[in-house]
Amino acid sequence: MKPEPPLRLVLDSEALVSNWRRLGELSGKARAGAAVKADAYGLGASRVVQVLAKAGCRDFFVAYAAEAAELEGIVDPSHMCVLHGPLNDADTAFLIARKIRPTINSLEQAQRWLVAGGGACDLMVDTGINRLGLPMSELGNELVARLEVQVLMSHLASADEDSPLNAQQRARWIETRALIKARDYSLANSAGIVLGPEYHGTLTRPGLSLYGGIPRPELEGEIAQVIRPQVAIMQVRDVDAGETIGYNATFTASSPMRVGVVALGYADGYLRAWSGKGMLRSSDGAVLPVLGRISMDMTVVNLFAAPHLKAGDWLDLDYSLPQAAGISGLSQYELLTLLGRRFARPQA
Ligand SMILES: *Cc1c(COP(=O)(O)O)cnc(C)c1O
Repeated sequence: MKPEPPLRLVLDSEALVSNWRRLGELSGKARAGAAVKADAYGLGASRVVQVLAKAGCRDFFVAYAAEAAELEGIVDPSHMCVLHGPLNDADTAFLIARKIRPTINSLEQAQRWLVAGGGACDLMVDTGINRLGLPMSELGNELVARLEVQVLMSHLASADEDSPLNAQQRARWIETRALIKARDYSLANSAGIVLGPEYHGTLTRPGLSLYGGIPRPELEGEIAQVIRPQVAIMQVRDVDAGETIGYNATFTASSPMRVGVVALGYADGYLRAWSGKGMLRSSDGAVLPVLGRISMDMTVVNLFAAPHLKAGDWLDLDYSLPQAAGISGLSQYELLTLLGRRFARPQA
């Protein structure tokens, strides 16, 4: 038997499905797809895609061809879309052989795709984020006219804010829809879905909120927490008054105390931002504050509220995304994608 790592990322697949369904309802006449790039924001793309595909999702967005390759055999290739497009000839050959659609982001990519004889693709038009995407001034190019576009999309820069850029981008996207024929029209990410029906088109692309993130107040009460990071206690120790804990001795015990050392550190994405601020919980709900600095693969917690705990017991990390973002100063996106390779990701 292989040894199990002392930390695991438990996935609540019912919450995942319920978030996807709710985002679908909030998308009105449009259907909701799923952004599963970056290993489904760190949750484990293969388990996330399996759960969502079973629930009926049929539009999965990854970033690179290599991410699509990791999902081979798990999802129908025609249900996958590679957002960054064919970056080179090797990508192009892979995508054509597997019949996976790239998103074309420039005339250069359009040329690469057409020369190789690529078929159906998606098209990203830049309406104001100035990242990837074809500038609107190039929409009339003859290469674009030759593309067989399935999803015509654009991406909002400030959907999580009340910015005039949102309406401006929406208006430009509606202009592009008059110029390019496509099967589907897609603009909204998670936050964009609640900006209103005129942002929906026929397909939305939530990521963050599928996984429990709440980027706008309209989504409060609609979205459930999906992940539960858990970590095992490696050692319990008793510390005398006046002793310090951890690197640089930033915490001093004012009275004798019992502490637990858990197998979680900044190498796992539990950054030093949590030093003296983070919170863990015992299985019966006792609150265990983090003491002193986070180390690379260790954190010390106060066991005052649960002195019966012992080595081998599992603790839950307080990681409710909006609150955790407020405490740590990290974004909800960072909180998810930071959780490292050392977490076991048991099949849902
Ligand atoms: C990541 C991404 C999304 C999902 O965005 P969220 O804010 O996580 O909902 C949608 N569309 C594109 C093009 C993306 O890159």
